[in-house]
Amino acid sequence: MQGFNKYYPPDFDPDKHGSLNSYRGKHALGDRARKLDQGILITRFELPFNIWCGHCEAHIGMGVRYNAEKRKVGSYYSTPIYAFRCKCHLCGGWFEIQTDPKSTRYVVTEGARQKQEDWDPEENGGFAVHDTDKAATPTDPLAALEKTTSAQTHMTQVQMPRIEELQSFSEQRSADPYTLSVKVRKRFREQKKVDRALQRADEELKGRYGLPESMSLVRDDEESRKAAKEEWERARRQEELRDKESLKKRRIGAAVGTMPVSLASKSRISKQHSSSSSPVISSLRARILENTARHSSLKPHR
Ligand SMILES: [Zn+2]
Repeated sequence: MQGFNKYYPPDFDPDKHGSLNSYRGKHALGDRARKLDQGILITRFELPFNIWCGHCEAHIGMGVRYNAEKRKVGSYYSTPIYAFRCKCHLCGGWFEIQTDPKSTRYVVTEGARQKQEDWDPEENGGFAVHDTDKAATPTDPLAALEKTTSAQTHMTQVQMPRIEELQSFSEQRSADPYTLSVKVRKRFREQKKVDRALQRADEELKGRYGLPESMSLVRDDEESRKAAKEEWERARRQEELRDKESLKKRRIGAAVGTMPVSLASKSRISKQHSSSSSPVISSLRARILENTARHSSLKPHR
C-alpha cells in the first residue's frame, strides 16, 4: 500500500528517492495500478443501465459498482474508446462494457445483455430520428450494380471519345509549331501590306477633299460604289424634277405677265447651262455626292 502519511524516515534521501512513494517502491495509485504494465488501470465503474449477466442470467441493476479494469481499445477520431471489464459479483463471470463516442453511449460488448429501456419517440407518439447517412448509400446490391454499369457505359461512350477527340485536336495544334507560325506570320505580313495601302489611299482622299482626319471611310468596293451611284442618280432625278416644276411655274408666271421677262430668260439660260454643263463639273458633283453617301451610310470602317 502506498504511504498515506508524511513521515520521512531517517534514511530518506530526496536526491536518491525523489518521493516517499518511490522510497517505498509504490505507485501513487497504489494497488489499482498493479496491471499498468498491461495498459490496465483498475477503476470504480458504475453500471449505466440494467443488464442481465450472460453467465448466471441474473438481473443486475443500474448503479451497481465494480472494480473494473479500464483499458483503451481504440479511438473515434481523437477521442479514446475505453473498455471496462467487470467481474459479476454473483457468479464471477466477466463482462465488458465499452464507451461509444460516436453516439455518446455505453455498449455491452461481451458477457452480458443490456436491458433496452431507452426512450423510443415513435412508441410514445413522437417522431423518430433517422440516420440520414445510411439512407444515402444504396442497400440494394442490384441497384448498386446498375449504378456501376451505367457509369461505365457513360465513361466508355461519352467521356472516353471526348477525351480522345480533345487529345487529337491538341496534337494537331501542337504537332508542328514552326509551320503554323510561318503560315500565320506570312498571312499577317500580306494583310499588313494591304492594310497599309488602304490607309494611304484613304489619307490621300481625305487630304484632297479636306476631310477631317477622324472621319472613317467605307471600303471602296463594288457594293459601296453601286450604292453611291444609286444615291447620286436619285438625287439627280429629284433635282431635274424640281427644275422642271420651277420652270413650269415661271412659264405660267410669264404667260400671266407677273414675272419679269429678264428673270425668265435668265433662268432659261441657267437651265440650259446646267443641262449642258461640262463633264468636269458633273463628275465633281458625282464625286461629292458619292462621298456624302459614303459618310452618311454609317458603315463601320473595315
Ligand atoms: Zn453473473
